[in-house]
Order: sequence, then structure tokens, then C-alpha cells
Amino acid sequence: MTEGKWDEKFRTFLKKYYWDSILQLANDYPDQRSIYVDFSDLEIFDRELADELLLRPDEVLPCADNALQSIDLPIEKSMDSAKVRFVRIPNKVPNRDLRSKHLLQLVAIEGMIRKATEVRPKIVDAAFKCMRCEHVTKIPQTELKFVEPLECENDTCGRKGPFKLEINESVFIDAQKLQVQESPENLRGGTQPQSLDVDAEDDLAGIVKPGDRVVINGVLRSHQRTTREGKSPFYDLVLHANSIEYTDQEFDELDISPEDEEQIIALSRNPDIYHKIIKSIAPSIYGYEDVKEALSLQLFSGVAKHLPDGSRVRGDIHMLFVGDPGVAKSQMLRYMVKLAPRGVFASGKSASSSGLTAAAVKDDLGDGRWTLEAGALVMADMGIAAIDEMDKMSSEDKSALHEAMEQQTISVAKAGILATLKSRCALLGAANPKYGRFDRYEGIAQQINMPPALMSRFDMIFVLLDTPNEEMDTKIAKHILKSHYAGELSEQRKNIPASGVSQELVDEHMEVVKPDIDPELMRKYVAYARRHIYPIMEDAAREHLVKFYMDLRKMGEGKDSPVPVTARQLEALVRLAEASARVRLSNVATLDDARKTTRIVYSCLKQVGVD
Ligand code: ADP
Ligand code: MG
Repeated sequence: MTEGKWDEKFRTFLKKYYWDSILQLANDYPDQRSIYVDFSDLEIFDRELADELLLRPDEVLPCADNALQSIDLPIEKSMDSAKVRFVRIPNKVPNRDLRSKHLLQLVAIEGMIRKATEVRPKIVDAAFKCMRCEHVTKIPQTELKFVEPLECENDTCGRKGPFKLEINESVFIDAQKLQVQESPENLRGGTQPQSLDVDAEDDLAGIVKPGDRVVINGVLRSHQRTTREGKSPFYDLVLHANSIEYTDQEFDELDISPEDEEQIIALSRNPDIYHKIIKSIAPSIYGYEDVKEALSLQLFSGVAKHLPDGSRVRGDIHMLFVGDPGVAKSQMLRYMVKLAPRGVFASGKSASSSGLTAAAVKDDLGDGRWTLEAGALVMADMGIAAIDEMDKMSSEDKSALHEAMEQQTISVAKAGILATLKSRCALLGAANPKYGRFDRYEGIAQQINMPPALMSRFDMIFVLLDTPNEEMDTKIAKHILKSHYAGELSEQRKNIPASGVSQELVDEHMEVVKPDIDPELMRKYVAYARRHIYPIMEDAAREHLVKFYMDLRKMGEGKDSPVPVTARQLEALVRLAEASARVRLSNVATLDDARKTTRIVYSCLKQVGVD
């Protein structure tokens, strides 16, 4: 091993800061093959070296590895392929801001794993045996192409083969390709998430799953694209991972400052907070008070419960809109995706190979290997998945949804890939009736092409009908027209005298579409509530819910209602009451919360036909 420029420095650093980790590694090697070094330690030790590491990782990283491998150990052991992995790299670059200047630098990319291939061996050092003289020539392999010897290394031979690859004298490592995609919470205004391919090798292969939230620290490299005409001037980016960190905490990306917290608490003390929140939901959509109330409860969500027997009951509230076309179903879904701290939008008829849940596919990323790809319900983990046109879902998705909605996991067993992915999200679905318009005298299950077992997993189903009604239609029409001009008027506001638009007219238009609470604050308010508030139900509230449920059961007796009343409804009631308490940041779900809940659930059930 030749001594590199920074080997000695790293040996001093590692011995001084990481001696315990090294002893541990020596003990566990080769089951453990790397130590994890906090970048800030290196920065304290030697600022210049730390900077070099960020700018020229291809020169510096091998020195760190060399240093580790050549340290004198108190026990007799050689750790000749041990690695130093650096974590907490300050060079955090959002996926969409990666540019050519970042090439060959050590960068940290944050996001969610969207795809992961199977782990397969990759040859890094190939041993070729000359079939004429038996001499073995070793060829280190490159990233892109399998390299074979030109001629035999043996001076007395030197012929051009033929050669035979000696598998047991070659060196293989585990390799996996990943694709990391921007997390929904980092996307504003419904932009499309961008993704980046990642190479994970050796002990980094096989440790993450699609849906995991991670920071991947690595060296950004580029591969030249090839087209049918030959080499292209365009390059694709690939991150060569040095380390992977998990960031799997709820809402941690949303920074809530002490000033924000003050504002949140003040807001929660407003006696009218419940209605303020409702009024902040999709203000450009007229009416739908019940729906908006339900949507706010869904945002806040109930509390997930872990039962003593090890099972878990979800806290997320699933909702479905069924109804005529043109009643603003899609519009509300899109609004919620933007408002929720973590929202993912997808359509039931989407062409994506992963569908809504997850799938094992063979695509470019895997180069012929099987790849596990996460769909919308996995990417929305710990957030809201808005699924439009649910009636057009594939039958695979329909059957996978049962598990996704109740257990909040998605299992994939196909082509040697066995995995269980997390989908702890609230589902907000919309479905159109099969025959264009909704027929209120026929059951909804038949009309939207969804099995009753799936329907019963929704906590609330709203039927939205488009019935002509002169008074209502006028109001909606006026509201729509006003909201259409609100954006433009506010633009013109800057030069009102010139535009000839009066201040009164501007205010009148703005009033219709301005949410009561600013969406940025609202998002933080929701995140705060979900992070800190875990309501428990008062006795009176509990009794009220139980009585309501028993009455429902009695009503449903002997009838075959389209959506059977089961114990699920009771769980739904509990979740909604908890969410209602969370709205005012209270840890107690009161009788008042329970009453609000039963009122809204009753109005839902009446529409669906349990009456
Ligand atoms: P759907 O998905 O139910 O078929 P859309 O969400 O595409 O309907 O809505 C069609 C259009 O009608 C949208 O531009 C929407 O804003 C408008 N619209 C329908 N109902 C309302 C309403 N109550 N208030 C405001 N706009 C409405
Ligand atoms: Mg629609």
C-alpha cells in the first residue's frame, strides 16, 4: 500500500477521536466493515483537511481508508477492506439544484428512496487465467464496463489469450442501485419531485427500502449517455454513496421557530379557532362546510394506538368523495396536497409501473435486475395521499389497498423480492360514478366500481351531487368569477390609480379567496399539533360515541346497507374526536368534540344511505 498525502493526518485523527470505534470494528471485522465519522469532528481536528474532503473526495477518501486499514491494532487482525464513512456532511444540496459545479464533490442529498434494485455481486478485481501458460492476470474493474486483459502479463508468454475468468480468485462486492426522490414536504406548490440515481456498495447495499427517508452522502459522478447514434454530449448524474443516514422523524423538516410557536399557541387560544381552521381550507371553493370540516380533521388526524398485544390501530383518517363530475372534487384534493405538511397527489389511472402501492419491476435502473418501486401511498408515508379517479384503479391496486389502508403497510412478494413497506398515510380519495352521473337510488358501491370491503375502510364517505338549484348556483357562479379575478387584481393593486380599479373592488374580490389563516402558518400549526398533542377521551365523550354507535348498529340491523356499520365506525369516531381536540391543541377530547364528530359522521352516513 503506497502512502497517500493525507494518510498520516487521518491516522492521527482516527486514533485521537475514534479509537473506541476502531477497537470495536477490529473485534467485529469482517461482519462490520466500516466506522462512521462525524464530519464536524474532522472539521475541529483540521479545517483544511475537512475542506479538501468536500472538494476532492476522490483523493481524500482513499487516504482515510488507507489510514484506517494501516492502523496498528492491539490484536492480531488485518482489516484490509475496512472503510471510513462520513456522516453529517454540511454540503446539503437539494436534488433540483444539483449542477455541473457539484461534480466530483462530496455532497449530501436528502429525500425518500423511490426505487431499490436487488442486491447483486459486482466484480471489482477480475482474475484472468491465460489458457496457454496458466498465468493469472488481475484487472481492476471500472464503473461502466467490464475490462478484459489485452495480453498475458507473463513476460515469457505475452499472448492475447484466450483467458478464462477465475471466479474464486476475483474479488466481488455487494452492489445495489437506488433512486432517491425529493420528499413531499420539500416540494412547494405541487411541483414534480426530481430523482437521482445512487450506487450503494459493500455494507451499504441492502440496508434501505423504498419509502425510507434518508440523507445520502456521496461523491457526485456523471456517466455519458449513449444513444443509437453513439455517444451523446449529455451526461447523467449518479451519486456514489459514502454513507446513508436515516431521517425518519415525523415533520422534522418543518422548522418551527420559537416565534412560530408563540404564534401557534396564541392562535390556539382563539375561541373561534375551529371555524378559522375550516375557513382556511380551499377558500376558492364555495360551500361544502361539512366537507371542509372533515378535511380539517383529516389534516390533524387521530392518534395511532399501540395495543398491549402488539397490534396497532391507525390514527390516520381516510376520506372518500364520490360524485358527479364538475363538483370540485379534484380541486379540493389538489388544495389539500398543497396545504398538508406532506402531501402526494396521484391518479388511480396513472401509468406509473408502481401503481399506487408498490411493485417489482424490471427497468433501466436495474439493468435487467428486479427493482422494487414505491408508489404514491408509500411516498406519502406520514402524510396525506390524495388519489383522484379511484374508480379507475387497477385490480392489483384495489387489492393492495386493503392492507395499505388498515395495516398501513404494503407487502410485495414477487420475483425473489420480499418486502414490507410502510404507508402510514391518510388517504383522500375521489371517485366518479360509472355512468357519468350519480344515481341517488342505486347503491354507491356498484356505481363507483369499488368492493364494499374497501369502501368500509374509509372513515367518511361524502356524496357530492350536482343538483341544479337556482339560489346555490348563482352563489357558486359569483364566487367562481370573483376568485378568478382575485389573483389578477392583487397584481394590479400596486398601481391602483392607473388601473382604474377601486380599492373596494379589490378588497371584495380578495376576501373570497383569502384563507383565514395563512397557509404557511397553517402547515406549521398542523405539524405542531401532530407532534405535541395526544388527546385522551373524557368519559362523557366516550359514552356519547358508544351510544351513537349502538344506535347506528340497531338501524343497520336486517338491512343490507351499502356500507355496513361495523366496529370500524367506532374507531373512526374516536379518531375524529381526537382530531377535533387537536385543532385547539387540547390533550382532552371532550363531549363537545364527540358531538361534532357524530354530527358530521351522521350527515355522511345519511347521504350514503344508512338511514
Ligand atoms: P371534479 O373533479 O369533481 O369533476 P373539478 O375539481 O375538476 O371537478 O372542478 C371543476 C371546476 O368547477 C373547477 O374549476 C372548480 O373550481 C369549479 N367548481 C365546482 N364547484 C365549485 C364550487 N362549489 N366553488 C368553486 N368552484 C367550483
Ligand atoms: Mg376530477
